[in-house]
Amino acid sequence: MTWQQRIDAALEARRAADALRVRTPVANGAGRFLTHGQQRYANFSSNDYLGLSQHPDIIRAWQQGAEQYGVGSGGSGHVSGYTTAHQALEDHLAGWLGYDRALLFISGFAANQALIAALTGKDDRIVADRLSHASLLEAASHSPAQLRRFAHNDAAQLAALLDKPCAGQQLVVTEGIFSMDGDFAPLGELHAATQRKAGWLLVDDAHGIGVSGPEGRGTAASLQVKPELLVVTFGKGVGVSGAAVLCSASVADYLLQFARHLIYSTSMPPAQAVALLAAFNVIRSDDGDARRQRLAYLIGQFRAGVNALPLQITASQSAIQPLIVGENERALRMANTLRQQGIWVTAIRPPTVPAGTARLRLTLTAAHEPADITALLEALHVASE
Ligand SMILES: *Cc1c(COP(=O)(O)O)cnc(C)c1O
Repeated sequence: MTWQQRIDAALEARRAADALRVRTPVANGAGRFLTHGQQRYANFSSNDYLGLSQHPDIIRAWQQGAEQYGVGSGGSGHVSGYTTAHQALEDHLAGWLGYDRALLFISGFAANQALIAALTGKDDRIVADRLSHASLLEAASHSPAQLRRFAHNDAAQLAALLDKPCAGQQLVVTEGIFSMDGDFAPLGELHAATQRKAGWLLVDDAHGIGVSGPEGRGTAASLQVKPELLVVTFGKGVGVSGAAVLCSASVADYLLQFARHLIYSTSMPPAQAVALLAAFNVIRSDDGDARRQRLAYLIGQFRAGVNALPLQITASQSAIQPLIVGENERALRMANTLRQQGIWVTAIRPPTVPAGTARLRLTLTAAHEPADITALLEALHVASE
């Protein structure tokens, strides 16, 4: 096969399976509404769970940061790209989340790649929840360490895998709130099983930080668990972009030596770090509490209403509500029917989710009004007929 034939065949296979991914340019894709062309839709597909992407204080902080520092950091943090704005944000996160140190990354994807690559070697074993995010499983499969997966949220199966002989160290990998299912990991049980074998637990709380727990400190804090390694990302509930790894002082120093995504990559713009600090100030304030309460109210409204629908749906307790419909074609058709009714949702298909579990991934946010949830429920009623 030539290069061209290989590419054409891969695209054709995706098309034939109704699995071809395309992007739709939108005028605005975060917040309550999504604008596409001349049309405005109720937006149930963004991860902006608290509506912070549009928060005036955070926008102003980014503008002021750009005036003070310019728009780019000018280099890797190891050269000249680590500013007092980055330091202030790292110190704030470490203190708030109860760790010695925080290290900033430009994305959650990069943080997970860097962390797993820097820590694990060929004698080690990575034991990951089967439904972990692609950024975790991909990093784990590239690592020379052995990769084993445990059934979703199954602490007993995790313990059995950890019991098998291992020459090196064991790293357990999971999420706080699962990105495609919206359910919570039993972090207490997983951490206990990990500690019995002197392993380390890595929790990726991309969907919990800002949104769950006291002051929005996330899923682990709400369960009073302190994983050895905590990854938080800033593109979801925090409303901005970027990520941090929370860890001990020695692990932070180690990552500064060996995490290639930090060393060989331009650090985030300092203005973004200024905006992020403003975002965390909102998250910790009464405004943040009010947004979390509003989101909880809307989740309750959705859960109550969805039970009345002729659909197989187990509503989650989180902002992520998966409507599993099975076949790709049906998921696409339902997303289309919803769109015709002014509701924007995304059909999520394999390989993002397991085969045969294509779904609509609905996300509720504090930017929504109760009337938006009512409209969503009515549109789902029509789409499921
Ligand atoms: C979105 C997501 C990431 C990636 O974070 P980015 O900052 O968007 O790169 C990592 N882990 C999980 C669980 C996610 O949902």
